Amino acid sequence: MIAHTALPSAAASYDQIIPATARWSRILRRGQVLRIVDLEGQQAVDALFYNADDHAERYSVHDTLLAQGHAYITTGSRLLSNEGNLLATVTADTCGRHDTSAGACSCEANTVRFGHHTRYMHACRENFLLELTRYGMSKRDIVSNINFFMNVPILPDGELAIVDGVSQPGDYVELRAAIDLLCVLSNCPQVNNPCNGFRPTPIRVMIWDAPSS
Ligand SMILES: [Zn+2]
Repeated sequence: MIAHTALPSAAASYDQIIPATARWSRILRRGQVLRIVDLEGQQAVDALFYNADDHAERYSVHDTLLAQGHAYITTGSRLLSNEGNLLATVTADTCGRHDTSAGACSCEANTVRFGHHTRYMHACRENFLLELTRYGMSKRDIVSNINFFMNVPILPDGELAIVDGVSQPGDYVELRAAIDLLCVLSNCPQVNNPCNGFRPTPIRVMIWDAPSS
């Protein structure tokens, strides 16, 4: 299901461009809405989510997919934690295809997939690790993630394929935090497969405060 929202840009309480290949994190307060904009299209954005008050509780692909009975993340997806609690709900999605099965790229995986010459290329796991250290976390805290705007069709034989992204310039996805939520993003630097159109590009991150009642 694809839905558009009409949150006015001028009302955003936070608005930031994340350069190509860079990392970002912020604590969303309960009720705040995060919008991730794929400014130029075909740009994968890897994301981790943690309970801001208890980092041991974090996004769980297994719990999320089991509960929704669907392989992809889109409008209406309820992002669940490893304790089965709701972390956030996807409230808008103009792209319609977000993977959460294929994991984040790493130097090690690049070496296996693409050859030893890629060993020193920057990767999402390095972005995650650098950002997590700001919160006292380390390698063991890098768990399964969401790949916003990454197109990973499941082939008839069950294989996951990474193919050209379907996101157009300006496509966005929004999620509303159900708790105080630490969001960690890696604007994917991968250039060895089509997940970024072989050309990493900037993204835009915006936040709206919860409507006061
Ligand atoms: Zn990546």
